[in-house]
Amino acid sequence: MKIKRWMWISALVLAALLVGKHFLLDTAAEAKGAYVIDVDALHRAALAGGALPERIEVEKVGEFAFPRNLVVAGEGFHMHPMVLLSHRVLWPDRTLVVDAAMSPEAGKKMPGSKMDGAAYERVQAAIKKANLIVFTHEHPDHINGIASVTDFATIASNVRITREQLEGPKLEREAFPAGALRSLQPLEYDGMYALAPGVVLQKAPGHTPGSQLVYVELANGTRFLFVGDIAWTNDNITEQIGRPRLAQIMLAEDRGSVAAEVKALGALPRDVHLIVAHDPVALERDLRAGLYRQGFSNL
Ligand SMILES: [Zn+2]
Repeated sequence: MKIKRWMWISALVLAALLVGKHFLLDTAAEAKGAYVIDVDALHRAALAGGALPERIEVEKVGEFAFPRNLVVAGEGFHMHPMVLLSHRVLWPDRTLVVDAAMSPEAGKKMPGSKMDGAAYERVQAAIKKANLIVFTHEHPDHINGIASVTDFATIASNVRITREQLEGPKLEREAFPAGALRSLQPLEYDGMYALAPGVVLQKAPGHTPGSQLVYVELANGTRFLFVGDIAWTNDNITEQIGRPRLAQIMLAEDRGSVAAEVKALGALPRDVHLIVAHDPVALERDLRAGLYRQGFSNL
């Protein structure tokens, strides 16, 4: 039987699509070197500074969705629900906001987004009252919330943005009022930095140049590690499969570094509770377990 030309062309197109899918969607990166998370060192640094925080609160300011196979390499095309969160760490006499989320207006850019304006207003109020504001990284969905604070000058001295976050290419500078970013004093440290009693930062570049871990240890001994967007779902860590090449090309990530961090997170003791920024399943599980509370209380 003579094989017609269109059959050859179809076969070649199909083969190219399969190779492309395998290359772009089905494979996660290999770890580049070893990323070290020394939990004992984080614990010691957390305890060095005084009374530990008492609790953590979370606000869900929105929902959105990505195709599952952009979130976990090799998985299906169905939509994967994600959340936009802001957290607050509370001591009896002070508060710290971890990630400021993004305004409902800015949130419209997220695919399939549904924003909660009232939750965002509570985050704005918490930012104004906070003694410290810190970010897992400099992407808009984590930092935009401070850009729209009215009277930016009143919060500027409480913002602990790292030099890499402030000067890096991922910061959406146009979202900030004129002169606002210049009024910020960047935080400079190498490796690890004790930010407050019970709170320690650790550099974790890869997802963005300014990515960092935020370790929090409460007075009752519960310990948390905010991992930002090193993973988009806890499944990245438990399955040890990161984002596919296509997502990482779109994000301009350092894939090998992110993979090394995912590996290190997977090897941590189980009692270090990982807070993955966009995971609704982990959020519900942690709320049910009473690890933190939903909604910022009105202090
Ligand atoms: Zn994010």
